[in-house]
Amino acid sequence: MSKRDYYEVLGVDKNADEKEIKKAYRRVAMKYHPDRNPDDPDADEKFKEASEAYEILSDAEKRQAYNQYGHAGVDPQMGGGAGFGGGSFSDIFGDVFGDIFGGGGRGPGGPQRGADLRYTLEVSLENAVKGTTVEIRVPTLVHCETCDGSGAKPGSKPTTCGTCGGVGQVRMQQGFFQVQQTCPNCHGRGTIISDPCDDCHGEGRVEKTKTLSVKVPPGVDTGDRIRLGGEGEAGADGGPSGDLFVQISVKQHPIFERDGKHLYCEVPITYVDAALGGELEVPTLDGRVKLKVPYETQTGKLFRLRGKGVKPVRGGSVGDLLCRVVVETPVNLSKRQKELLEEFADTLGEGGKSHSPRQSSWFEGVKNFFDDMTS
Ligand SMILES: [Zn+2]
Ligand SMILES: [Zn+2]
Repeated sequence: MSKRDYYEVLGVDKNADEKEIKKAYRRVAMKYHPDRNPDDPDADEKFKEASEAYEILSDAEKRQAYNQYGHAGVDPQMGGGAGFGGGSFSDIFGDVFGDIFGGGGRGPGGPQRGADLRYTLEVSLENAVKGTTVEIRVPTLVHCETCDGSGAKPGSKPTTCGTCGGVGQVRMQQGFFQVQQTCPNCHGRGTIISDPCDDCHGEGRVEKTKTLSVKVPPGVDTGDRIRLGGEGEAGADGGPSGDLFVQISVKQHPIFERDGKHLYCEVPITYVDAALGGELEVPTLDGRVKLKVPYETQTGKLFRLRGKGVKPVRGGSVGDLLCRVVVETPVNLSKRQKELLEEFADTLGEGGKSHSPRQSSWFEGVKNFFDDMTS
């Protein structure tokens, strides 16, 4: 089956702004949310489709890639394995629905999974390329040690709910039908806490800032996510913990610019080196290397240093370092130096054209332009 256009999925215009996209996603996702359509497999598909569309269109970079290349430009399944990168819907879900469904919760009744958390980690380009381990501090909800998560004051115990007998559900007669409902007395827990724990006030969870060690694999780039399973908020009523998503943001580097696996840098060279050729020292992330510049090198020329770029985190060949030489006009010239340059200019004489091929062809182009205009 061919994929539907993401804009069509959300029912928004191609020029829709961030807010409109978020609003549209909310509308579509609310309509098809699995909790609201438990018996409709189509709704589940539509919900996933909308989540995927939102994941792409809410990210400026991914959206641009999608606008340019369509579905081929963005593959949300890319690199989904081993808890790294890829499109996990749960965290955007938390972002948009946190206020509606209460994070990772699934309505009242029974143990609830803790909410997923997101943490943005800024790393230097060097650390992003070579990998690093960083300690982060994350405010979160953890299991209450005092009551061991039960919510009951130590020495007391939650008592079995008398209304439902501990099942958390009650049967009600409605006309001819018997329907099951969440127990109104214990709200589905099956137990009642008559003497709540002082530290967590019966919640079973307390706020705490956790210090975690995050292993950043070599090759990560801005937008990559590292999942720390179970390091999100503790679950309620014995439910499992959510996950923590560490979102990578690579800082700007004073020398290198990164484009995927390739690095770029600008190297100024003198007018003389450009004309006669020379050897330059250029920086790489592994130290300095020598770069031979041939004679008659023009400004803007790119020199490729193979394998001096980035090894992508999802595998594949190492990128290159591309050095763009910029010919610098000499400044602070002495009288003598100016004389020499003037003498040099005189030697060019009428043959000047053959020494400046770019300028000559440019003048030619300008002349043709005006000729065409007047003819
Ligand atoms: Zn407690
Ligand atoms: Zn009950």
